[in-house]
Amino acid sequence: MSAESGSVVVAMDGPSGSGKSSTARGVAARLGLRYLDTGAQFRAMTVWMLRHHVDLSDPEAVAAAADRPELASGTDPRHPTICVDGEDVAESIRSDETTRSVSAVASVPAVRKRLLELQRSIIGAGGIVVEGRDIGSVVAPDADVKIYLTADSAARAARRTAEQRGADVAATEADLQRRDRIDSTRAAAPLTIPDDAVHIDTTPYTLAEVIDQVVALVRES
Ligand code: C5P
Repeated sequence: MSAESGSVVVAMDGPSGSGKSSTARGVAARLGLRYLDTGAQFRAMTVWMLRHHVDLSDPEAVAAAADRPELASGTDPRHPTICVDGEDVAESIRSDETTRSVSAVASVPAVRKRLLELQRSIIGAGGIVVEGRDIGSVVAPDADVKIYLTADSAARAARRTAEQRGADVAATEADLQRRDRIDSTRAAAPLTIPDDAVHIDTTPYTLAEVIDQVVALVRES
C-alpha cells in the first residue's frame, strides 16, 4: 500500500523524548496525511480527572469516571488540537501536574478501552500517522508501517528540557525514567516493540534526517 493511496496507516511508538511527536507530525505534513497524538488524549483525560478531583491513586475511581469527559482531537499535523468538554486544553495537558499524573491514569484498563474506541474511530479508513505507546501492538496491529523510535536517556532528557524552558535536566531525566518504567511494566497494553516494527535510534540523527528515513519507509510500503 502506498502513502499516495490515502489509506495508509503509520504507527509510531516509543518512549517520551524519542522524537516521536516531531517526527510523526513532520511525516504526516510531508505526505499529506492526518496526525493523531494519542498521548495528548491520555493527558486530556488526566486534566479532566484532576479538575474533577478524581482520586488518581484509586483505579476504581478512575475507571468509574473514564466515560465522562468528552474528548475531541483535531488531526491537522500543522495545527493539532485537543479539547475536553469543548475547551481547548493544549496548555494544561503539558503542565507538570498532568505529566506527573498521566501514567497512573493510562494504566487503568477502562481508560484505555474508552480511548481505544475513540482512536480507532479517528483512524477510520486511514491516511494517518498515529503516535503513542501501543499503536503498532494494540490500536492498529494491521498498520502498513510500524516504527519504534528510541534515543538514549540523556538525549531524551536534553530534548525535553529544551522544550520546557527553565526545566532541570536531571529532574527531567528522572521523570522520563519513572514514566518509562510505569508505561513498560503496566498490565494493560504496555510499551513494547512490535515484532514487525522498524526500530530507529534517533540519538545520532537530526529531526530532518529521521523524517526522511520514515518518509522513505512509508513510500516503499
Ligand atoms: O506521549 P506522551 O508523553 O504525551 O504520553 C503521555 C503518557 O500517556 C505516557 O507516559 C503514557 O502513560 C500514556 N500513553 C499511553 N499510551 C499511548 C500514548 C500515551 O499509555 N498510546
